[in-house]
Amino acid sequence: MSKICLCLTATTIQRNLEILNNNRKYADIAELRVDCLESDERLYIRRFPELAGLPVILTIRRKVDGGYYTGGEGARVKLLARGLAYANADSRFNFAYVDIEDDFDVPSLEEAARTFGTRIIRSFHNVNGVIDDIPEKIKSMQRSGDEIIKVALAVNSTGDVLRVLQAAKTAPKKDKILICMGHYGIYSRILAEKFNSFLTYSRALSESEVSAAPGQLDIKDLAELYRLRSISKKTKIYGLVGYPIKSSVSPWFFNSIFKIDNSDAVYVPFPTDSINDLLDVAEELNVQGLSVTVPYKEAVLPRLRGRSTSVRSIGACNTIYRNNNDWYGENTDCAGFSDSLLEFLNKKNLKRQKITVVGAGGAARAVAAEIFRLGGQALILNRTVHKARNIAAQYNFRWGGLDSQGIEKISKYSNIIIQTTSAGMEGHDSADPLELYAFTGKEAVMDLIYAPPETPFLKRAAAAGCRIINGHNMVIRQACLQYMRFTGKEIPRQILSMISSTGVNSWNKIRTD
Ligand code: NAP
Repeated sequence: MSKICLCLTATTIQRNLEILNNNRKYADIAELRVDCLESDERLYIRRFPELAGLPVILTIRRKVDGGYYTGGEGARVKLLARGLAYANADSRFNFAYVDIEDDFDVPSLEEAARTFGTRIIRSFHNVNGVIDDIPEKIKSMQRSGDEIIKVALAVNSTGDVLRVLQAAKTAPKKDKILICMGHYGIYSRILAEKFNSFLTYSRALSESEVSAAPGQLDIKDLAELYRLRSISKKTKIYGLVGYPIKSSVSPWFFNSIFKIDNSDAVYVPFPTDSINDLLDVAEELNVQGLSVTVPYKEAVLPRLRGRSTSVRSIGACNTIYRNNNDWYGENTDCAGFSDSLLEFLNKKNLKRQKITVVGAGGAARAVAAEIFRLGGQALILNRTVHKARNIAAQYNFRWGGLDSQGIEKISKYSNIIIQTTSAGMEGHDSADPLELYAFTGKEAVMDLIYAPPETPFLKRAAAAGCRIINGHNMVIRQACLQYMRFTGKEIPRQILSMISSTGVNSWNKIRTD
């Protein structure tokens, strides 16, 4: 199984030891990034393995490889030699590994490392993108002995990740480390075992030290949320597809259940620029099911072999799962939304309710379908007016823009106002999409967004005296339905109440640097 390595990038030995001690229980290996140390501190690196008390990698990363070392190569060789010198008979007092670049050519130093039992990590970095022939590169890096080959490539798209993943499958069966650096590659760091990687690098995000490489995850999340140490080749993979997806609660929700339930399964974020490439990646990784979010709920439809009734009538899909190597789609937003709204209103249906729906994207379509099913009447308002008209036409609802003419119509549809746009969501435009409307205080107001807990829109409604609810209850309800679809199991009640009562806000971020 892949190991977790904590990258130590502080400027002093003392501070690195503090960070290590704060996170010791999550780390199998530490990497001392000598390039981040102040010059004076570099004199004391030899004692670090003894002080650290766990296997340590000695690394002096050059600027050209994404590090901070700007000195000459001669001085760097001397520093490496200082770290490896005076080998101790007790190997715990020596560096366990030394990271040496593929173009490094100092045979005497490599020989010394081998003699004293320090394993060489032969590394190649490309901070500009993916190289042409990754398997060929890996092959050319092979030397004699017990070396670990490390290839770290910046990925600028999901297509790039796919190429690294395919290379991981064809590369020789030898200890290696394959890393997709950057946001599109964050799941390669969680699924290191599936990428055949010997270890995954992480950092302690709560500490304020510099980043070791783009896309590194928090070590505590890797160990506790994603349970990286128990991910094996057999572990079932689920996840969330979208862009951006930093503020989703879903990894926290699913992984908490898998942990309590002791399931051999993990749920990971799959940020992507291309739903098609991402589904190719998912097939390579044998992913079993995916939650689909903004902006792919419609774009995913052509890849589906089968669609549930709700997906067919709404034309948007938020849940896909695999059966006999084909993808099938469902929409759990519908039931998640209506269950949450009816509970909030303390009603069994929406008869005689006049409702304004703000927005006309995938979520709005699920909302409109449920309002219709439950007997309500709606006005759909959207920035792009023709989309509002299309949805309204399906249910004989009214429609308009977010301009003064559209806003005027709200007075006749103001029992309930439902905000379904992504405006106000973390990582999106923070505007209030209904800023031209003055709440009377009598409206019941729902915002589908849950991060932040109160958008500017919802804050304004609350200040006017309206009853309000955000999208947290809805997201948990629709995720429960996804869980049942993915696993075929109900969530035990006591687990659900445990999860609902835990502080979601402490876990509702996908934390990378
Ligand atoms: P979508 O299909 O991409 O639609 C986005 C909608 O937002 C469109 O109507 C778009 O208008 C509108 N919009 C975006 N920025 C805007 C702005 N600055 N001003 C006015 N309108 C703006 O996304 P979706 O799947 O419907 O999701 C929308 C939101 O609902 C997201 O925040 C999502 O997180 C949330 N949601 C929550 C849950 C839950 O369980 N709580 C479930 C589903 C969705 P145009 O058509 O003019 O571009």
